[in-house]
Amino acid sequence: MTCVDPGRYAAPTITKDYLAECRLAESPKDFAGRFWSKVKVGQDGECWPWTACLGGNRTKTRDGRYGHVGFEHRVLKAHRVAWILTKGFPVPIGYQILHSCDQPRCCNPMHLRPGTLAQNAADKVKRHRSVFGMKNANRKLTDQDARHIASLRHSGDSGQAIANKLGISASTVLSIWSGSSWSRATGLMNSTSPLARHS
Ligand SMILES: [Zn+2]
Repeated sequence: MTCVDPGRYAAPTITKDYLAECRLAESPKDFAGRFWSKVKVGQDGECWPWTACLGGNRTKTRDGRYGHVGFEHRVLKAHRVAWILTKGFPVPIGYQILHSCDQPRCCNPMHLRPGTLAQNAADKVKRHRSVFGMKNANRKLTDQDARHIASLRHSGDSGQAIANKLGISASTVLSIWSGSSWSRATGLMNSTSPLARHS
């Protein structure tokens, strides 16, 4: 787990959040007890979901997916509180607490780390890629392979010949050429998709 030296991120301005979280860092044992009683604590490698209330309007706001806990008339995100209670100091100003497991309700401190907005965005791009790219394929192709196969469309070789050469199935080659798979990597549009019809 990443360790942050609190002195390194001394707050330039003291905000309300900072104050609330400072006080939380010195919270009495009963608050910590109450907090952890609402977390389904499991093994180190497992996610520990927040079992009490989730914030706001789940369908409309992103925050609705996070656990929320009340503290002195304020509502704080449960995963931030988990991190603060474990570390004993506030989240550095300008940092968010990111989930390595991508489970907003998870409060396992081993799945939490401070990061900037930019790191959060980079994580999301990575996950987005894994959903639409390599992990989703039933073959061991990479984005680069798919682009290479796409570039062979006008080589004069048949799909079957290219498939034989690369040791993959002809249907994989044809589906890449038609844009019905790997289109995010190749930029080829499936002519049957609504996007293609309306463009
Ligand atoms: Zn987790």
